[in-house]
Amino acid sequence: MKEERIKWPNGAKCAVLFTIHVDGESLYNRGAVPTPRSVSYGRYGPFRAVDRLLELTDQKDIPCTYFVPGQIADRYPDMMKKIVSYGHEVGFHGYNHEASMYTDLPVEGWMEIIKRSQDTFDRIIGKTAVGYCATSCDFEEDAMRIWNEMGFRYSSSMRGDDRPYRVEIDGKPSDFIEVPARWELDDYPFFAYNFYPPLPKGQDRISGYKGVFDNWRREFDGYYRYGLCMVFMLHPQIIGIPGRFRLLGELIDYMKACPDVWFATGEQISDWWRENY
Ligand SMILES: [Zn+2]
Repeated sequence: MKEERIKWPNGAKCAVLFTIHVDGESLYNRGAVPTPRSVSYGRYGPFRAVDRLLELTDQKDIPCTYFVPGQIADRYPDMMKKIVSYGHEVGFHGYNHEASMYTDLPVEGWMEIIKRSQDTFDRIIGKTAVGYCATSCDFEEDAMRIWNEMGFRYSSSMRGDDRPYRVEIDGKPSDFIEVPARWELDDYPFFAYNFYPPLPKGQDRISGYKGVFDNWRREFDGYYRYGLCMVFMLHPQIIGIPGRFRLLGELIDYMKACPDVWFATGEQISDWWRENY
């Protein structure tokens, strides 16, 4: 690639961001009929797996960004405090992991959801989120202008780049930074599985672990070589089961064996980008 190399802080060769999506029960408890088994699948995240991930990333000295729906923060206030006490960032991810977004909710409704979630964070951890991660569904073209107006300073919601960028608002590049993530760096398409209701629809996977971690290692090699910004989307109930989180540790070891990798939170990466690009 002939493009100009990004100048990361302290001469780092590339940036790596682990976003941890603690969707918990919120993905599964929205139907009219209770689905205790499905809800328990989501609950495994905050109930069992977050502690494992906190311990692992503490051992490896990796700062992360935890995107937590307000509902889950309300359910697990001690988890929230623990995440913050380990030095991680907490970001916005809906109140109930709302899947409708702007497409069928008036803007005011969505602003109410943001306010409710931010109030929850403020009450539990004494601060509000600066990072916005859109939930499952898509959003309208000018949504980022509203996120910016509501006090967010960056988002990690898009898929179309492997570098951060300034979001265009009203036709001009703004101080609102997008730190895009990629589906191939999401554990969901490879590993998520719920029997009923079927999730993903078709129920045609759980992928072989070695293959997925081999994909991620090769992707890292590419990001490292070209000096890009690698953004993972990991879900505790998916990645935090006994076999997989061990492999995640091995992947981190592999990355750490390469000199000059900048492991940072979304807030750190977006702040740095705003100051330098
Ligand atoms: Zn989510």
